[in-house]
Amino acid sequence: MRVAIAGAGIGGLAVAALLAKAGLEVALYDQFDAPRAVGSGLVIQPVGLAVLDLCDAGAEARAMGQHIARMLGREVTRGRRVLDVSYDREGRKELQGLTIHRAALHGALLAAAGRLGVAVVPSSLVAAAPMAGAKRKLQMADGRVEGPFDLVIDASGAGSALSPLRARPLPYGAIWGTVPWPDATTLPADQLSQRYFKARHMIGVMPLGQVPGRIGPQAALFWSMRRDELAQWPSRDATEWKQQAATLWPEMHPFLAEIVTTAQMTPASYTHGNLRRPYADRLAFIGDAAHRASPQLGQGANMALLDALALSLALQRGPLEQALATCARMRRWHVRIYQGMSAAFTPQYQSDSRVLPALRDWALAPLSLTWPLPRILSRLVAGELIPPLAGEAFPTRAFHLGLNT
Ligand SMILES: Cc1cc2nc3c(=O)[nH]c(=O)nc-3n(C[C@H](O)[C@H](O)[C@H](O)COP(=O)(O)OP(=O)(O)OC[C@H]3O[C@@H](n4cnc5c(N)ncnc54)[C@H](O)[C@@H]3O)c2cc1C
Repeated sequence: MRVAIAGAGIGGLAVAALLAKAGLEVALYDQFDAPRAVGSGLVIQPVGLAVLDLCDAGAEARAMGQHIARMLGREVTRGRRVLDVSYDREGRKELQGLTIHRAALHGALLAAAGRLGVAVVPSSLVAAAPMAGAKRKLQMADGRVEGPFDLVIDASGAGSALSPLRARPLPYGAIWGTVPWPDATTLPADQLSQRYFKARHMIGVMPLGQVPGRIGPQAALFWSMRRDELAQWPSRDATEWKQQAATLWPEMHPFLAEIVTTAQMTPASYTHGNLRRPYADRLAFIGDAAHRASPQLGQGANMALLDALALSLALQRGPLEQALATCARMRRWHVRIYQGMSAAFTPQYQSDSRVLPALRDWALAPLSLTWPLPRILSRLVAGELIPPLAGEAFPTRAFHLGLNT
C-alpha cells in the first residue's frame, strides 16, 4: 500500500514512523522548505509518551524534556489552590507528564522517522487530494501533482486545506515565549505552575528541559489574552506588560527579566470543533485536522499521537475499506469526551465571565481537592479518563506499570 501524508508535524511524523515500522511505503509532504517546528512548550501525557515509545522517539523526547509530577494553579487575590493535580503520589516517572518544547519533540520524531527510512518532501504546500480513478493524488499549490496513492492522511493541522472542519474561534488566546530557567527562582522545576486572576488572566510557567539551539534548561511562559488584544500585542509596551504580570505574580519576576521586546512572546489563537466523520474515501484526518480545542487540558499533541497509533493499528489489522471506520470507532469517545471537557473547563479559566471564575474558586476548587476527585482529575489530565483507543488494552496506566504485558 502506498500512503501519502500531508503535514510533517506531530501527528504526521508519528503516523509515518508507525506505518514505516509496519512495512508500508510512506511519502511525507510538508509546506516548509526545511522541516521545523514552530511554537513553544507543550505537555505530553503518559498516553502520548507510550505512543512516542512505539515510534522509537520516546528516549530522545525524555532526554530533552522535563518530567513533571504536579500541575498547581492558584488564584492571585487570596492565593487559594484552584487546580492541584499530581500525576503519581509515589513519584514514578513513567506515570508523569513530560513538558517539552515543540522543536525538541519535533526533532525526536523526525530523527525516529528518518531512522525508519521516512524522508520528508519539503516545499510541498498541499492544496487538494483529488480522486484519480480508485486512488487519490496530492495536488500542491505550485501545480505539482504527486501520486497516485492508496491512502492520503491529512495531518496538516489547524490550517488544513483538505479538512472540511470549520472550527469555532475561541474568545481567548495566549502569548507564549521561551526563556532560560533562572537560578533565582523558587518555583519547582518538576511542576507546571499557573496563576489566575478571575478568568481574565491565566499566567503560566512550564519547565521545558533542553531546547534545540539554547544552552541550559529553559521555561515556557504563557499569558492568556482576549483574541482582539492579541492582534495589538506586537505594538504594545513590553515593560508595561512585565509590570502587570509581576504585580499579579511576583515569582514571575526572574523569568520576565529575559523579555525585552514583545517579539519574544508569540501570539497564538485557539479554535474548537471536531469532524463527526474523520475520514472519506481513501482519505483520513488525524490530529488538529480532525479536532481542535484550547490547550487548557494539555491534550492536543496527545490526541494527534493517539490518532496516529489508532490509524496504524487499524491499517495493519484489516482491509483499507474497513480500516478508516475502525480507526474512527477506536478514537470516537475519547475525542468526544475530551472535546466536551475542554469546552466545559476553558471558560472557567479564559473568558470574560465573572460568575464562572467565582464558581471555580468557591465551589469547584474545594470540591476538586476532595476524595475521589483528585484521582479522577489526575486520570483526566493524564489522558486516561476513558480508554484512549476503544477495545484496546493499550496504552493505559497498567501498560506503563507493566501489568498487562
Ligand atoms: C500555544 C499552544 C500550546 C499548546 N499546548 C499543548 C499542550 O500543552 N499539550 C498538547 O498536547 N497540545 C498542546 N497544543 C496543541 C498541539 O500543539 C497540537 O494539537 C498538535 O501539534 C497537533 O498536531 P498535528 O500533527 O495535528 O498538527 P501540527 O503539529 O500543527 O503539524 C501540522 C504540520 O502540517 C504542516 N502543514 C500545514 N498545512 C500544510 C499544507 N497545506 N501542506 C503541507 N503541509 C502543511 C505544518 O507545516 C506542520 O508541520 C498547543 C497548541 C498551541 C497553539
